[in-house]
Amino acid sequence: MLFEHVFANAKRDPSRVLFIDDRGQTTAEQFAKMVAGFSMLFRSQTTQPRIGLFLPTTTAFAASFYGALVAGKTVVPINFLLGKKEIAHIIKDSGIDTIVSAPPLIDRIKGLPIKLIDLSTLPTSAPEGMTMPPLPTPAASDLAVIMYTSGTSGLPKGVMLTYGNLAADAQSAIDHAQLKGEHKFLGVLPLFHSTGMLATLLAPTQLGAMVLYQARFSPVGMLQAIRDHKLSLLVAVPSMYGAVARLKSAGPDDLAHVYAVISGGEPLPGNIREAFLAKFGKPIMEGYGLTETIGPISFNVPGRHKPGSVGQIVPGATIKLIDDNGNEAPQGQDGEVWMKGAMIMVGYNNLPKETAEALTPDGFFKSGDLGHLDADGYLYITGRKKDLIIVAGEKAVPREIEEILLTHPSLAHAAVIGKKDPSRGEVVVAFVVPKEGETVKPDELREHCRAGGLVQWKIPREVFVATELPMSPTGKVLKRVLAEQLAKQPT
Ligand code: AMP
Repeated sequence: MLFEHVFANAKRDPSRVLFIDDRGQTTAEQFAKMVAGFSMLFRSQTTQPRIGLFLPTTTAFAASFYGALVAGKTVVPINFLLGKKEIAHIIKDSGIDTIVSAPPLIDRIKGLPIKLIDLSTLPTSAPEGMTMPPLPTPAASDLAVIMYTSGTSGLPKGVMLTYGNLAADAQSAIDHAQLKGEHKFLGVLPLFHSTGMLATLLAPTQLGAMVLYQARFSPVGMLQAIRDHKLSLLVAVPSMYGAVARLKSAGPDDLAHVYAVISGGEPLPGNIREAFLAKFGKPIMEGYGLTETIGPISFNVPGRHKPGSVGQIVPGATIKLIDDNGNEAPQGQDGEVWMKGAMIMVGYNNLPKETAEALTPDGFFKSGDLGHLDADGYLYITGRKKDLIIVAGEKAVPREIEEILLTHPSLAHAAVIGKKDPSRGEVVVAFVVPKEGETVKPDELREHCRAGGLVQWKIPREVFVATELPMSPTGKVLKRVLAEQLAKQPT
């Protein structure tokens, strides 16, 4: 289950380089030794059944991940872009007492009530003479990962994913795109997020394929790695592809070895799709999935892709589209995307009510996204039923931002929506109404959000001060009307 591929890869071809990062190359055998060493250390240094990972996209993340599983732990990857308040919530909610990290990131979590394992002080291989205990034999229903994602109440929700979920979605993705062990993957996405974990950690290990990690994204660095290491499988978010396509000196030769360019995590804007194709002559394959499905539910693959769609449904998953009356929408018409399959999470940690709302008794997960299928079974995501803004792949829940804005003593109302942005996909904007006789300045409110602990991408890019907000007869702010007002504004 998952980690057995690590040892099988080492046995099959011990000297093959499977991981590259800015610290160098790691062969299949070296990696298996790292995993074994970390597993023994984690086992001896922790007592809780779950363990946190707070690491950048590196070989050390990959080895710690499998090391923790081999130690019999459930892994709780933590988004290192989050603020201390959210991290403290994750620690408490997941019940971890230990986080594995390394400098310089580790400084960000010092002071939190948690034991830290600093990887930079550990040997990267099992000490000589230490014998590896037998590998555990987890059941498909055992929890492998709890991955935190933005919750509607603002605080992240822990998505509980089993060994069966992870193995099923990795296999579905591999089968759908006919991926092979010879492929060389680019790993630039954060491994704490589902797309990065599935496509650039689980899938390559399952295939015995090589992956090159870059902890810091730079368009020049990414292009250089693709060219110099002849990478064939690119997985990134649209803003990264947009930045690479803007590089003046880049051209089709740089991507000569590339088999597939995959985009996930957020909608792919048409202008980025076109700029990339014009520059490199390779289409971007857009995919769609959620943390709750760990990886893709659908994606386009070379040879049968339709621009603008998120592709056909992966093997092992089924979807249906449900209209406002709870009926299945006729083909071609929009409905909420419901999905079923072995990759769907078992629930949200400690949240039975939210779990029951999200999962139907017959096993469908309600995604909160709107879309339709065409006659060939290609899915088109057209909107969101849930209140969510996605800024360069990072999620922001309007309610959390509105609540912080409303702690400002001069504000009577606040409404937060997303605004289309050419490079980040969406940005956060706020509409506010001051209390009678009060005045507020946009900068002051932005500072108030910062002081309230909001991370950078959640701080409103623009704040519009109004005398009133459009309201429904029941007193709900009509965000659709605000979005229409925004769309009319000159950009
Ligand atoms: P996360 O759980 O962070 O992976 O976020 C999942 C959400 O991202 C989905 O529910 C969608 O709202 C959005 N999303 C992911 N991929 C796409 C896509 N290709 N097009 C539109 N929305 C997407």
